[in-house]
Amino acid sequence: MTNPLRTAFTLPPFNDIRPEHVEPAIRELLASQRAELDHLLNGPATWKELVEPLEAMQHKLSRTWSPVGHLNGVMNNDQLRAAYNVCLPLLTAWHTDLAQNEKLYGAYQTILDNEGSQLSAAQRKLLENALRDFRLAGVALPAASKSRFKAVMEELAPLQAKFDENVLDATNAWSRIVINESELGGLPTPIVARAKAAADEKQQAGWLFSLDAPNYQAILMHAEHEPLRRDFYEAWSTRASDQGPTAGKWDNTALMEQILGLRHELASLVGFANYAEYSLATKMAKSVEEVTDFLEQLANLSKPAAQREYAELETLAGRKLNAWDVSFYAERLKRQRFDLSEEALRPYFPAPRVLEGMFVVAEKLYGVRIVERKEVELYHGDAQFFDILNADGSHRGSFFVDMYARPKKRGGAWMDECVGRMQTHSGKHLPVAYLVCNFMPPSKDKPSLLTHSEVVTTFHEFGHGLHHMLTRVDYPSVAGINGVPWDAVELPSQFMENFAWREEVLPLISGHIDTGEPLPPAELRRLQGSRSFQAGMQTVRQLEFALFDLRIHAEFNPTQGGRIPQILSEVRDRVAVVKPPAFNRFPQSFSHIFSGGYAAGYYSYKWAEVLAADAFSAFEEHGVFNSVTARRFLNAILEQGGSRDAMDAFVEFRGRKPDIAPLLKQMGLAA
Ligand SMILES: [Zn+2]
Repeated sequence: MTNPLRTAFTLPPFNDIRPEHVEPAIRELLASQRAELDHLLNGPATWKELVEPLEAMQHKLSRTWSPVGHLNGVMNNDQLRAAYNVCLPLLTAWHTDLAQNEKLYGAYQTILDNEGSQLSAAQRKLLENALRDFRLAGVALPAASKSRFKAVMEELAPLQAKFDENVLDATNAWSRIVINESELGGLPTPIVARAKAAADEKQQAGWLFSLDAPNYQAILMHAEHEPLRRDFYEAWSTRASDQGPTAGKWDNTALMEQILGLRHELASLVGFANYAEYSLATKMAKSVEEVTDFLEQLANLSKPAAQREYAELETLAGRKLNAWDVSFYAERLKRQRFDLSEEALRPYFPAPRVLEGMFVVAEKLYGVRIVERKEVELYHGDAQFFDILNADGSHRGSFFVDMYARPKKRGGAWMDECVGRMQTHSGKHLPVAYLVCNFMPPSKDKPSLLTHSEVVTTFHEFGHGLHHMLTRVDYPSVAGINGVPWDAVELPSQFMENFAWREEVLPLISGHIDTGEPLPPAELRRLQGSRSFQAGMQTVRQLEFALFDLRIHAEFNPTQGGRIPQILSEVRDRVAVVKPPAFNRFPQSFSHIFSGGYAAGYYSYKWAEVLAADAFSAFEEHGVFNSVTARRFLNAILEQGGSRDAMDAFVEFRGRKPDIAPLLKQMGLAA
């Protein structure tokens, strides 16, 4: 039997891939790549004969691994998870070997020295990034430190994966049954219907609420029955910890210390004072101090507003609030003030309509066309596949869309790479992306209806997708989102969110489920008015995460350890207005920084928001569909990917460095 992962596929043969294919495929591929690397290193050190073939090798590896990682994320099962986990250390070891290969390091330096003047800017950037990454991986270290560096990398990868698994398992393990109908007061009909169906399926009486994001958010926001809100808050905020209903079963506490300790050691080995400095070596922001100053400046601007907003909520409630009351009263206040409810607008945003309208936005802006392709192999009935075509009909890129929550699917929303763009004599491939969300699934007779904030999420992930798919860079390491600093990578996604708020766009993406009527202008104005609602509180919440993340990585020291609870409590004293209960163990499920790529980089969201709001202000000045502005954004930012310095690219688009004022204006925090 041929192993489907070892066949020369462009789009993954999802339905043939079995867990037992994964490890042999990856082992074989890595062995052949090791042999190929040896062969290449004995040949001439030139761009064409070394860099291009290496780019092609890495492209092949990520193309092969991509469906495994994707299925592990969206169709998780024990066998696949085990196979995935066996391969992680193999891949890490290979990447570290590559990054620590002195001969390769020397060869890249030679190529830059010999051919630098004839190479394109993108080619030079690729070499410069690679040389930097060699140094960050300890290529020049003495043998003992070098092998220790590698060992630490290999230890870290499974710990980080375990962190995620614990969160997923703890989330799946808990649910809440409601027997008494009166406890459902305030809950949106679709949420109640889904819980009824879940109970029926298990032949239980009543309503069964699992602990997924749509249920959690809906209950915290709408459930009038306080004990229900409290139960959900407790279960959610204690996931994978020593507290709450599954206390101690999937506890991430020790893992967090181990992860921080190993990261610190890694950074120390290559000459950084701490992991935060190491993390910033590849980012647009230059130093821990610069990031701290940026976050502190925002804290000073937003905390007074956050305190006022919180006081308003307490006034409305007529009492001190518990953490599980905040969303509930915020939703009431929002309804009162704007006569607006997130839930009431759902019928205007059927998911298919939103997608269709969003595609029209991209078509107007960038002169492309987006069409569904039906005959592609999909891994689940919810998934769809689309092509992006240039104005002349030629193929530019493609993407999978997987919108709805289901069991065994990781929570949240994300864009991931299926295939990267490569156009060299070693091979030609167009980019393919995965866009994944976790919205409420369609019911038997109705499509999924989105809240406006889910619409915004869809635009966000599509923004990442466009960055990946519209790239014109031909070398995978700097094409699309690859090679883009983490603190600039959220620029295209957050930029794209802005369109979901505009009156020019809302008629395209809304259409009432029963009447087809677009969102009425009065609703639209209320919605826009609500955009900066509680911007102070939302900002200090993000600042709490960002400062906490930065400080635990900057201040770790081997004798004292991570001091995670202490630092969290200091950060909360400085910025937070909502004081969580003692059982809250938010860090234990903070996957972004413990298992994702945001370690000492969570500030990137705010950093990129400044870039995104400033970039969008150019469209506000010239019209949201202004083609000259849109083409400039396409050419300077989206098409360039990681092939040029992020600040230079921004300056080329905007004509100047980023300004914080448009973001403050957008949030209603401008002086
Ligand atoms: Zn994002």
